[in-house]
Amino acid sequence: MVEKLDYMQQAAWSFSSGQQQSPVALHVDSSQVIQAADLLEWQVPYYGETLSDQANNMQLAGKGYAKLDHRNYRFVQLHFHAPAEHVIEAQKPVMEWHFVHENTLGQKAVIAVTAVLGKENPQLAQLLAAFIPKTALPLPEAVLLTSLLPTRGLIYRYVGSLTTPPLSEGVEWFVAAEPLTVSPEQLAQYRQLFPQDNNRALQPLNQRPVMGYDLGAGSSLF
Ligand SMILES: [Zn+2]
Repeated sequence: MVEKLDYMQQAAWSFSSGQQQSPVALHVDSSQVIQAADLLEWQVPYYGETLSDQANNMQLAGKGYAKLDHRNYRFVQLHFHAPAEHVIEAQKPVMEWHFVHENTLGQKAVIAVTAVLGKENPQLAQLLAAFIPKTALPLPEAVLLTSLLPTRGLIYRYVGSLTTPPLSEGVEWFVAAEPLTVSPEQLAQYRQLFPQDNNRALQPLNQRPVMGYDLGAGSSLF
């Protein structure tokens, strides 16, 4: 069983270093946004295969490949934060979904997509229906995640850290401005399973650049 993190005692979490931590408050001036339709290239359909209880949230291990700024990454797992960890242009959505990727050198990149209240999310519905507390089990049927990946609009990019111990730095973040939606009933169902907020406190930016990239009107890559 995974050790449950105490989000009320974040100052006691063990970590070294600390100048490039996540999450942060994100802002870019519209005049600084770079047009980059090929920043995120989804190479294959993404699937979630194994759903596990991580004590503070649920995690979905799976398969997928992308070129992130023209470098090859493998999708490892998706997990959830409620409320969101990043603040985007002073907004803090109700959830943030982290698609953790890794390259062959072990460098991590996270695609972060927030969620606001609205229409039901079909993938979250599948996961909530399949979730069994205190287990890590293959799903009866793999969940297709492709439609959750950002293909249009603004992407914030900066270098930060994992937001749970060991809080390792050197993580490249790509945070989508355009949110997904979850229904109020889904959020309530999720929060019944994970009542404690699992968002790490905002960390100082410390002069780090935050870049803004516009993916354009949208593209379908496979
Ligand atoms: Zn996360």
